[in-house]
Amino acid sequence: MTDSSTTVRPDRRAEIAAGLARVRARIADACAAAGRDRAEVTMIAVTKTYPASDVLALAGLGVTDMGENRDQEAAGKAAEVAAAGVVPRWHFIGRLQRNKARSVVRYADVVQSVDSVRLARALGTAAEGRDRPVSALVQVSIDGDPARGGAVPGSSDPDTGLDAVAEAVAGAPALRLAGLMAVAPLEWEPERAFARLAEVAAAFRAVHPGATALSAGMSGDLEVAIRYGATHVRVGSALLGMRPTLR
Ligand SMILES: *Cc1c(COP(=O)(O)O)cnc(C)c1O
Repeated sequence: MTDSSTTVRPDRRAEIAAGLARVRARIADACAAAGRDRAEVTMIAVTKTYPASDVLALAGLGVTDMGENRDQEAAGKAAEVAAAGVVPRWHFIGRLQRNKARSVVRYADVVQSVDSVRLARALGTAAEGRDRPVSALVQVSIDGDPARGGAVPGSSDPDTGLDAVAEAVAGAPALRLAGLMAVAPLEWEPERAFARLAEVAAAFRAVHPGATALSAGMSGDLEVAIRYGATHVRVGSALLGMRPTLR
């Protein structure tokens, strides 16, 4: 067989299996330390920059959830993986332009990066033809700086205030408001970032009791995120290795 992008080489499979075992152990240990049930935390394998064959290797090792942050790359990879007979649950986790909404809802079951009313509306319209709603997480800005993406808690901005974005998602029949997502700001200690996020999430759930998902924590800080209530961790480099480009 030729070495196509969906051929899984045995040495690569072994490497990924080792990474996966380490990450699963970290998650289990973090859950135990936090007194949480392991079943409460879903690991999303972030496969950006890595080929479809890595997705197939992960799926073969029992990983059901994959994350991507760029539509063009994700759309092609999802199609390749599907052609190989595998359909993981795709989470879109990157900044999303409204004109990409239509493409993203063709393969993504979850969009974690909804951070404006205008994007929520575009996604809601794009998702109308689907047989199942798209689960939407509102991405929250932990430091309140909307320039870096994320809806802002406590802000009355009609486009980027957290309450307005949540209302727009909740009001779209083809979307399901599933919860919140955040990335810890680079210059904040993860401890401080996720403690702040936990406060925001608690207040959010009081208003939207069904929106229980909390997507927080990556390769470097998943333990802290789990301690502060993360239900989804998004893990890339600890599974697949360092990415060649920073993004
Ligand atoms: C790339 C990315 C991740 C994974 O980061 P790692 O440090 O490689 O685990 C998680 N979340 C988002 C939003 C990302 O873009």
